Amino acid sequence: MPRPEVAVVGGGITGLATAWFLRDRAAVTVYEASGRVGGKIETTSLLGVPVEAGPDTFLARVPWAVDLCKALGLGDELVAPATGKAYVWTRGRLRPLPEGTVLGVPRRLGPLARAGIVSPWGLARAGLDLVLPRPPAGGADDRSVREVIGKRFGPEVVNRLVEPLLGGIHAGRADRLSLAAVAPQVAEAAGRSRSLLLGLRSGPAAGNGPVFLGLRGGLQTLVDRLAKEVDVRLNTPVEPLADLGADAVVLAVPAYAAARLVPAEAARELEAIEYASVVTVTLAYAPDALPGPLDGSGFLVPRVDGRLITACTWTSSKWPQPGADGVVLLRASAGRIGDDRALRLDDEALVGRIHGELAEAMGLRAPPTGSLVSRWLRSFPQYDIGHVARVARIEALLPPNVAVAGAAYRGVGIAACIHDAERAASAVAPH
Ligand SMILES: Cc1cc2nc3c(=O)[nH]c(=O)nc-3n(C[C@H](O)[C@H](O)[C@H](O)COP(=O)(O)OP(=O)(O)OC[C@H]3O[C@@H](n4cnc5c(N)ncnc54)[C@H](O)[C@@H]3O)c2cc1C
Repeated sequence: MPRPEVAVVGGGITGLATAWFLRDRAAVTVYEASGRVGGKIETTSLLGVPVEAGPDTFLARVPWAVDLCKALGLGDELVAPATGKAYVWTRGRLRPLPEGTVLGVPRRLGPLARAGIVSPWGLARAGLDLVLPRPPAGGADDRSVREVIGKRFGPEVVNRLVEPLLGGIHAGRADRLSLAAVAPQVAEAAGRSRSLLLGLRSGPAAGNGPVFLGLRGGLQTLVDRLAKEVDVRLNTPVEPLADLGADAVVLAVPAYAAARLVPAEAARELEAIEYASVVTVTLAYAPDALPGPLDGSGFLVPRVDGRLITACTWTSSKWPQPGADGVVLLRASAGRIGDDRALRLDDEALVGRIHGELAEAMGLRAPPTGSLVSRWLRSFPQYDIGHVARVARIEALLPPNVAVAGAAYRGVGIAACIHDAERAASAVAPH
């Protein structure tokens, strides 16, 4: 019996992983519009040192990405960041991120007090979580990050800790993101317990081992290895699905791209998923431009402080490279939903502004000796209030032999995309 034919549209991690999961069950072809695989995963180099233009790690506390790397023979290439220490640039200086938060949501007041990220008043307000009555049940069951966490801890914890961390993963805003969609474990604790501090403490304990992992040589290794195992056609943008002549189709492209390939009703729902644009700027410095050794993996910047940068990875201390002692790499990100200031600057102006902010935060003493700008337009899907219900409607509106998968639906991270790829592969396999 001939094997069913499955077309996968999109050669990012989701599309490639979908093809991998289907490899024994169907004849699969991946159609990729651009001339390279990987989508947002892109390892390049600056002054001969490998740098990630997009993601640099994946979550290792869930099995999906780690298991796929091992299945592809990349288990020995997995590498943990050299340091987990991170900071928030706020209230005039770099302040250590308190230990033991869940996506920025505190589980204890002691570390929050020591970090100095919130003012004494903000700390006192956060402590009210322990004594405030349980919020009334009923009303909307899908609430924003700000509504749920702000009611328990007050605005400062949201603005200076939760929005930079949790909002940073989505380049989103705490008043728009759906808590149930972006942090289901926190939403569950909030529903279960009168105090969120106590609710998170009694939730599932964090496992041992590194929270994040990367790959020696960069994440491009993962997508390149996958591309060797599956049939990929580059430079092949898919327009009408009918042209593919496949028994089943998985759309592993951004939601706005999938919208062009499905019936009108589903298309409207897909188009309603908004995207934020971001830019990453990697800057190279001579070691003596820094006031001292970097002790950590980088820092986050709260939106309320009005800066251009949203985060900075201290690439050289997070991922030390043998033989790269003569150069220090810092990677800043800028742009989030509703803030396209960075995107409107040309590369030269952008590098100048970013260097200026980094110099202020870190005390840099000399300009950069090299730079690399990567613009990621419409790259971060926003899980706004109502997102979970919207994804369910999209699924119900699609023809039975068509599935959507990827960052727009059940998690933006690489691990979640791989998990979604496995789910989509099982959904279309019977067709
Ligand atoms: C700057 C940045 C930093 C990030 N950092 C992290 C991180 O540290 N850790 C983490 O886990 N995640 C991170 N993410 C998120 C993660 O990288 C992405 O969510 C994930 O890679 C998305 O994968 P995908 O396959 O779903 O989509 P994409 O990577 O967008 O792939 C979709 C592919 O479809 C192709 N395509 C589009 N339209 C068509 C068409 N009509 N026909 C054929 N092909 C088409 C595109 O060219 C693209 O290659 C980051 C993202 C960015 C942008």
